[in-house]
Amino acid sequence: MNTLTVLAGPTAVGKGTVSAYIREHFPAIWFSVSATTRPPRPGEIDGVHYLFTSEEEFDRMLAAGELLESATVHGRFRYGTPALPVRHALAAGKPALLEIDLQGARQVKERMPEARFVFLAPPTWEELVRRLIGRGTETPEEQERRLETAKLELAAESEFDHTVVNSDVRTAAQDLVRLMGLSVDSTET
Ligand code: 5GP
Repeated sequence: MNTLTVLAGPTAVGKGTVSAYIREHFPAIWFSVSATTRPPRPGEIDGVHYLFTSEEEFDRMLAAGELLESATVHGRFRYGTPALPVRHALAAGKPALLEIDLQGARQVKERMPEARFVFLAPPTWEELVRRLIGRGTETPEEQERRLETAKLELAAESEFDHTVVNSDVRTAAQDLVRLMGLSVDSTET
């Protein structure tokens, strides 16, 4: 019986990179496509990477109870997991994965406590700091704010069933796939 797997972790830990690796190399895994009010970035395809929605459409989905969870991330755009496709994937026996933020993971835990909750952790605090400020695009104040947020987010690890350390993207992706009960050898492409 496949259970839902929820992957979350602190900002800048590399959730997006690990997810992208899994999408490319483990096609057997079903990925939830989130709704978001954020505009698409170059190369992002509506319905593949996200369902890009207006504020009005997001409000409608929320009011209609169509979202399993939802959150405003980094104080800006809204993101949410459409509930019906998740139910269909699980009913079809597919290994299903959500990559969402910590607020969303807590909501899923309320509604589906039987799901598998996986925390993606940085190898060390110093490495997270390096990844957070490495881009050099934020002001010192913004960097300070993000580091404070990251500290709080790291403390959430104890709420999760498992931890995967993201030292190396491929190893982290394989560890996650194994936690989902799949054999890496027979599923990695
Ligand atoms: P990005 O805009 O860079 O693709 O994603 C920003 C953040 O939104 C990431 O931390 C990602 O985990 C989170 N996110 C993406 N989809 C969802 C969702 O459906 N629900 C929640 N709660 N967070 C999401």
